[in-house]
Amino acid sequence: MLNIVLFGPPGAGKGTQSEKIIEKYQLSHLSTGDLFRKHLNEGTELGKTAQKYMDEGKLVPDSVVIGMVEDKIKDTPDTHGFIFDGFPRTVAQAEALDELMTKLGDYINGMIALEVPDKELKTRIKKRALTSGRVDDQDDDKINTRIKVYKEETLPVAEYYHKQGKFHKTDGVGSIDKIFSSLTRVIDQL
Ligand code: ADP
Repeated sequence: MLNIVLFGPPGAGKGTQSEKIIEKYQLSHLSTGDLFRKHLNEGTELGKTAQKYMDEGKLVPDSVVIGMVEDKIKDTPDTHGFIFDGFPRTVAQAEALDELMTKLGDYINGMIALEVPDKELKTRIKKRALTSGRVDDQDDDKINTRIKVYKEETLPVAEYYHKQGKFHKTDGVGSIDKIFSSLTRVIDQL
């Protein structure tokens, strides 16, 4: 299996690049943001729990996220591997993911971080707000909270993979195809 963590701040383009990666490498996409939005639309208990955190741009508690990821992995047998998008977002989640992978007799091949300056992130999220319908894309306060939460709670996850010798980064600014080809150069060496 090929298991990749795609990392980066909100608006970095993880969703866009994930789509291209899963097509080329035949991987399964595991986006915790997408899974939460699905629960929200279906009105599940989990969706109701997650909503208040998501709407404010804060992180959903680790236990909720980890349980949901475990279920999704179990529901995806016979895959060539996973691209994790928006997960792990805390060190506790990264540790839980390593435990889950070990249980499956597998491991994370590497993390790839998409680097994009804050100013560009805000521009992209505001543009996306016009069509995404996402409450958390709609105003500056929420966008700023998400970027702050990313720096305080999520950036340490990069260090976690760095210590394991699994950290890689690519420039997330430029055309979608140019960024994709930088990503494939890294993936092909994992
Ligand atoms: P973005 O990367 O644009 O911020 P996502 O779609 O990945 O958006 O996530 C949207 C929201 O869902 C987050 O702001 C957070 O509230 C919640 N969420 C998604 N993934 C996680 C996670 N791994 N841990 C905690 N909360 C999460």
